[in-house]
Amino acid sequence: MARVVYHPKLVMGFPGLSLLHPFDGSRPRRVSQALDREFGVGKWGLLEPEGPVHDDQLTRVHHPEYLRSLQRPQVLARAFEVGPLALCPAKFLEWIALTPMRWATQSALRGARHALQQGVAISLGGGFHHAKPAQGEGFCVLADVAYLVRTLQDEGKLKKVLHVDLDAHQGNGVSHCFAEDQSVQLFDIYNRDTYPAGDELGRSRLNVDLGLPQGSGDDLYLSTLTEHLPAFLSQEADLLIYNAGTDVLAGDPLGGLILSHKGVLERDMFVFAEAQRQGLPILSVPSGGYSEGSTKAMAESAIHVLKRYGID
Ligand SMILES: [Zn+2]
Repeated sequence: MARVVYHPKLVMGFPGLSLLHPFDGSRPRRVSQALDREFGVGKWGLLEPEGPVHDDQLTRVHHPEYLRSLQRPQVLARAFEVGPLALCPAKFLEWIALTPMRWATQSALRGARHALQQGVAISLGGGFHHAKPAQGEGFCVLADVAYLVRTLQDEGKLKKVLHVDLDAHQGNGVSHCFAEDQSVQLFDIYNRDTYPAGDELGRSRLNVDLGLPQGSGDDLYLSTLTEHLPAFLSQEADLLIYNAGTDVLAGDPLGGLILSHKGVLERDMFVFAEAQRQGLPILSVPSGGYSEGSTKAMAESAIHVLKRYGID
């Protein structure tokens, strides 16, 4: 049975930010509205995160000095790759970016807890897969996946995790967080011709490394997925974390893999079906997606998952 984790505080940014940045911070709200239209207001197994994650909890993953540095506008401006943000007051940046990311981090954890109990969860926030223990980059500041894994491992609820990253960009931050830790196995299909192509450890740490060329399209992408994923998921594990980045869509300004909407839906349903077939609890996180189609693709997949697996 499936549920969806959402809270209005996941929404990032402010009107007009889209002029400076491709990221649509209102995406979680727009997906929740699409689910409202499909199932009725809030009748889609809505779960809420506990609240924003605090620095003392994040020290499971991040260096304390790095967490303190997030109060400096320059550090956030660099991670978000929007120079003018360095001129904004720290409190403002906290409000538009850092606090929503704290909520998204707890949203992913809430989803993982549900998946472990009931099998299937979709978080409408999270998937910050470029965040490293001591550095934010690629629009990612908090390493939500590493945080949820460490938290659940510390609670004794989790040992081994499979991380399947199908965002268009290689999940280098996840590799850095688990550089010395094979309790999390990493599977990654990504555009090898774009950021973060120069990150050696990002790639070398992968257990299944499937870099594809720019412009791959549905056929190559989906045949790569269906050929390699079943064997990866056949390992004994407690949880599958699925980074369902929608920047693989054609028209995305940053992804470059030019998948169709039909291709993305097929991709997502294949991952969920394989998880189900192998008896693996699954949590999906939204990660990247910078085209208008991202919201539509996320909503379509969530609707299909909820209809197929039932609303808890
Ligand atoms: Zn991406």
